[in-house]
Amino acid sequence: MGTLMEPRINELECAQDLSSEVRSLLKDLHLANELLELEKAHCDAVKQKHRLELEALVGERTQELQAANLNLRMQIAERRKAEQQLYFEAHHDALTKLPNRAMFSDRLGYAIRHLKRHPNQRFAVLFIDLDRFKMINDTLGHHAGDLFLIEIANRLRACVRDNDVLARLGGDEFVILLDSLESDDAEEVASRIIASIEQPYTLEGNTLYSNASIGIALCHRHYKNSDEILRDADAAMYQAKSLGRGRYVFFDDSMREKLIATMTLEQELRVAIEKQQFELHYQQISDLHSAKIIGFEALLRWNHPTKGLLTPSEFLYLAEETGIILLIETWVVAEVSRQLQLWHNSDEFQHAFIAINLSGRHLTQANQLNKLIALIKKQAFEPQRLILEFNESAFCNHGEIALKGLRKLKSAGVKLALDDYASGVSSFSFLHSYPFEFIKLDRGFIKTLKSSDKNLPLVKALHDLGEQYGYRLVAEGIESEVVMQKLHSVGCDFGQGYHISKPKKLGSSVSTEQDKSCA
Ligand SMILES: [Mg+2]
Repeated sequence: MGTLMEPRINELECAQDLSSEVRSLLKDLHLANELLELEKAHCDAVKQKHRLELEALVGERTQELQAANLNLRMQIAERRKAEQQLYFEAHHDALTKLPNRAMFSDRLGYAIRHLKRHPNQRFAVLFIDLDRFKMINDTLGHHAGDLFLIEIANRLRACVRDNDVLARLGGDEFVILLDSLESDDAEEVASRIIASIEQPYTLEGNTLYSNASIGIALCHRHYKNSDEILRDADAAMYQAKSLGRGRYVFFDDSMREKLIATMTLEQELRVAIEKQQFELHYQQISDLHSAKIIGFEALLRWNHPTKGLLTPSEFLYLAEETGIILLIETWVVAEVSRQLQLWHNSDEFQHAFIAINLSGRHLTQANQLNKLIALIKKQAFEPQRLILEFNESAFCNHGEIALKGLRKLKSAGVKLALDDYASGVSSFSFLHSYPFEFIKLDRGFIKTLKSSDKNLPLVKALHDLGEQYGYRLVAEGIESEVVMQKLHSVGCDFGQGYHISKPKKLGSSVSTEQDKSCA
């Protein structure tokens, strides 16, 4: 406004005829105008200052917000990472970083559900068990065992495809879910794994070898959950192991039936101990020269509530496998001890011995051996009236420990017999380095004498060696007079078998046909 009026004031000032009053007014006006100008400049400066201050404040706040935002983002990323780590740890094995049982079951469960909707899809589960892991752990320590497992995991990883799931269930048990299966995939992968695992391992300067036994269960719509298919793959793995390591076996229905039958039998065996369904049948052992009874072999029978009388071949393998045999045979020892005590005052059997068959487990488990010796020692009869029979399988594994156990038993005063000689490897060392008082010739070997004399010189040689090494020969399974005479002619000392006497319960005079097969 001041600037518009300025020329007009200047114009007026220049006029000659202006009164002094007007001049004074003009002067005031001029001054007011200048003041206005100054005021305006001041206002502009203040405005500018405020604007700059505001801008600085906004900048500062923006920076603060950006920093807070960045911090928040970092916190979220850290939390996400921690969550991922937690999830990984809950679903993976800490040592090999492979999926664990929980994750495997989850994926397998999904595959089973998927199969219900897409019946043409195929998958398989491979159950892998390794040789020598326990040996490595026991001899080289857990660190070497861990290194071995990591190496195994790496080798297995290289054998499977990206979409397969390889997991460690625990210990040395690994499983694979082969997804989207083509016809021969499972066999190919199993062969690859076996070839890879059998390559040597170098662990802490030691070269070691291992083998994989693999059970394969193919998908089937009847599987309701992951446990069922894993159980079947596991059963097939056991079959592979028992057929000889380094092979794979497919699960089939007969295996399932066998598995169920085995499980049932195991339960029944435990009930049999509880309800005392076992009994002993005694088979006479005679002096082949004098025909006198010198003792008996106590043969175990199971009076099964529905199947009738069972011989050991029908149940003892399972009792051995599960360890139940120790309970059964402890009962046998107690029962035979009771019988020997009963005979103590009998005229007829005062000096007779009783032989019993024992599993090698008694020799290798120190606490069991001590229990057995304590049981024998507390009896009132002379311990030499008890003969403990073991067959060579007792010395297959842990032979040194078993032999030590055998010597400990001998020092308890009992007599020892090697059962079923000439049926297996039948090493000569059993004759000269083991403390056996009796060598019992296997019934299968004795049977050959029925139609041929070819093996007769062997019996004679074994008898003659016995005089040198301090054992007596007992022939098992003598089923005819001819065989008995042949054995007698070459010096065999003692014998037992259906021809001499059938096994029977004491107090009864009749035996069953079943007894014949085990006499
Ligand atoms: Mg025997």
